[in-house]
Amino acid sequence: MKLSTWIVAVCAALALVGCKQGGSGPSAAPTSGVTDALIAAADGNEWLTYGRDYGEQRFSPLTQITDANVKDLGLAWFADLDTARGQEATPLMHDGVLYVSTAWSMVKAFDARTGQLKWSYDPKVPRETLVKACCDAVNRGVALYGDKVYVATLDGRLVALDQKTGNEVWSKVVVPDQENYTITGAPRAAKGKILIGSGGAEYRARGFIAAFDWQTGEEAWRFWTVPGDPAKGFENPAMERAAQTWGGEWWKLGGGGTVWDSITYDPATNLVFFGTGNAEPWNPAANGRAAAKQAEFGDNLYTSSIVAVNADTGEYAWHFQETPEDRWDYDSDAQITVADLTIDGEQKHVVLHAPKNGYFYVLDAKSGKFLSGTPWTDINWSTGIDPVTGRPSINPEARYEVTGKLWVSLPGAGGAHSWQPMSFSRQTGLMYIPANLAGFPYMAARDWEESEIGFQTGLDSAATAMPADAAFRQQNLDATTGALVAWDPVARKDAWRHTYLGPWNGGTLATAGNLVFQGSATEEFAAFNARTGAPLWTFPTQSGVIAAPMTYAIDGEQYVAVLAGWGGVWDVAPGVLSAKSGRPRNISRLLVFKLGGTATLPPAPALSKRVLDPPAVTGTPEQIARGADLFGRYCSVCHGDAAVAGALNPDLRYSGALNDANAIKAIVVDGALQHNGMVSFKVALTPADAEAIRQYVIKRANEDKALEGRSGA
Ligand code: CA
Repeated sequence: MKLSTWIVAVCAALALVGCKQGGSGPSAAPTSGVTDALIAAADGNEWLTYGRDYGEQRFSPLTQITDANVKDLGLAWFADLDTARGQEATPLMHDGVLYVSTAWSMVKAFDARTGQLKWSYDPKVPRETLVKACCDAVNRGVALYGDKVYVATLDGRLVALDQKTGNEVWSKVVVPDQENYTITGAPRAAKGKILIGSGGAEYRARGFIAAFDWQTGEEAWRFWTVPGDPAKGFENPAMERAAQTWGGEWWKLGGGGTVWDSITYDPATNLVFFGTGNAEPWNPAANGRAAAKQAEFGDNLYTSSIVAVNADTGEYAWHFQETPEDRWDYDSDAQITVADLTIDGEQKHVVLHAPKNGYFYVLDAKSGKFLSGTPWTDINWSTGIDPVTGRPSINPEARYEVTGKLWVSLPGAGGAHSWQPMSFSRQTGLMYIPANLAGFPYMAARDWEESEIGFQTGLDSAATAMPADAAFRQQNLDATTGALVAWDPVARKDAWRHTYLGPWNGGTLATAGNLVFQGSATEEFAAFNARTGAPLWTFPTQSGVIAAPMTYAIDGEQYVAVLAGWGGVWDVAPGVLSAKSGRPRNISRLLVFKLGGTATLPPAPALSKRVLDPPAVTGTPEQIARGADLFGRYCSVCHGDAAVAGALNPDLRYSGALNDANAIKAIVVDGALQHNGMVSFKVALTPADAEAIRQYVIKRANEDKALEGRSGA
C-alpha cells in the first residue's frame, strides 16, 4: 500500500475532522457541531442557515405560536445595536445561542433565551468602503458550520470565527480587488466548503461565486459569471460560449453579473444555484456590449440569470437567463427557493424565483428547464413570455438607448422583488413575496465615458431627476407603494395581497401555525393569517424593518426574532415614505418575541434618533480652521451653524460621504448631487477647500459624538 493510499484509508476510517491528504488537500466536512446532516434535517428548534433549510423555504414547522394565540405575542427581550445603518440580517440559532450580523459586517452572539451578549466581533471595515457600496453598509447574515461562524465583510473578506468566543480563526480577501467589489450577502456552507459571491456590478466588477475550505479558507473553486478578456483565454467552455453574446470590449469594465445575494445548495441534485446581477453598464449602447457576435444578440451571458454549478467542482451545469438584453438593472440575485411541487399531476423538484423583473419563474431544478413564468405585478418592459423557452419579448419602447427617449419602466430598478427574503409555506403552498410597486426612469447618456469612480450606468441621471413640480411629485408618490403578495406558484395567481403605504418592507417568515410574519417600512412588525391574509397582530418597532424574521424554540418555548433598522438602497432613493408618513427612523435593534412576553421598549424619540459615526479626525489645525471659515461662508446657510442642520437639508455630520475625500470633492466641486439641489461650488472652492470643509465637519461630528457619550444619550 502506497503512503498516500494509507492516509486516505485512515481518514476515511476515522472520519477525522479536518483530516488531510499530505496537508494540502481539502478538509473533510465537519462531523460535529453544525454538520451537513444537521442542516439537512432542518429541525424546527434551531435555525442553522440563512434560509433555514437547504431549500431556503423559510417555513418553520413550529406550532406553539398560531393564528389563534398570536394576539398574545409579546417582547421577550431586545438588544440595542451599536450601528445606525440598514440591518438586513437573518439571525441564526444553534445550541441556545443566537448569532446575528449587523451593519458594517459586525457579528454578535446572544443567549437566545435571555438576550445576554456572549461576544461581539468587529472586522473593522474601513469606513471609506461605504462610497464603493451601492446600497448601504448592510450585511445579510452569517453561516454556521462545524465549530465556526462565517461572515463576509463589506470590504470583501471572508472571516471564520470561533463559535464559542468570537475570536478570528482566519480572514481572507476573496474579491479580485477591494476598490470595486463589496460583499453584503450571507455565506452558505455545504460539503466542507463555504460559498460566497460579491456585489459591484454598478462599479467595475466581474461577477463570481467561489467556494472556500471551511477549515483553512483555501479556495476550492471559483466560477466567473461573465467572460473575461478573450486575449487571456477562457477559463472553461461556459465562458467561451458566453463570450459570443458580448460585444465591444466589455471586459474593460468587468461586465457585471455579480452574485450578491442568492446561493442555494441542493443536496438532491448536488448543484449550487445562484442568481446574477445586471450587465455593465446598464445602458447597453454605452460601451457596445450589446453588439454581440452571434445569434444571441446582446444577451450578455450569464447576467440576470440563474446559474447552476456542481457543488464539488464549480463546473457549469445549466443556466436560465431571466432578462436577456438587460438594460434596466433587473438583477436575478433575489433568493432562490427549492421545493417539491405537484404540477399537472406530476411531482417536480423545482426552483422558484421572483427576480426584480416582475415574472415569477418555476424551473426544473436538475435541468434548468423552463416550466412557467408568470407576471405577478405590473410589467411594461415586456409584452409576454415564450411558453416553451421562457424568453420574454421586449417592448420596443423599453429599449431607451435605441429610442433616445425617457423610459419609465415597471418594475423599476429597485425591483418588484429584491433581496428581502420570501417564504414558502408547505401548508398553504403559497409563496409570500415582499413586493415593491414602483417605476424607475431611464435615459441614455450622450457621449458616455467610463470613469474611475462611481456608478457605471451610462444613464443621464440629471435628465431623469424628479422635476420640481408638485403635481408630478404627488402623482409619483401615489404610484409608489409596496405589498405582501401571497403567490400560488402552481395556480400561478395571487391568493391574497396586503398593501403598504410604501415600498422596501421586510422579508417574510411562514410557520406551521398558519402564520406569516413581516416587518414594514412603516415601523411595524406584523403577523398575518397565512391562508387568508387577515392581519392578526402588530408590534410598533420604532424603526423601519427591512430584514426577515426567523423563529426557534428552547425547552419547548417558541421565539420569533427580527432585526429592526431602516436603510439599504431605498433610503437613498427619493423619499416616498418621508413624504407620506415621515422618514422611517433608524433605531437598530434585535427584537425577540414569545407568547406572554412582557419586555417593553423605551419610549420612541419624537424625531429620528441617529447615531454619529464619523471617521477619525485627520486634518491639521490650520486645515480645520480654514474649513470652519469656508463652511460658515458658503455652507451654513443651508447646512446650519456649526454644521448642525435643521430638518430639511442634510445634516453633514451624519453624512457617509465624510468617509471619502473624493466623494466630498465630487459633490462640492464637481456637482455630483446637482440633481438634489447641491450645485457645484467650483467657482468659489478648490478641491483643497472641499477637503478643508470635510475635515472641519469631521471634527464637529467627533465633538458632538463625544458630547453624546458624556450625556449617556
Ligand atoms: Ca444591480
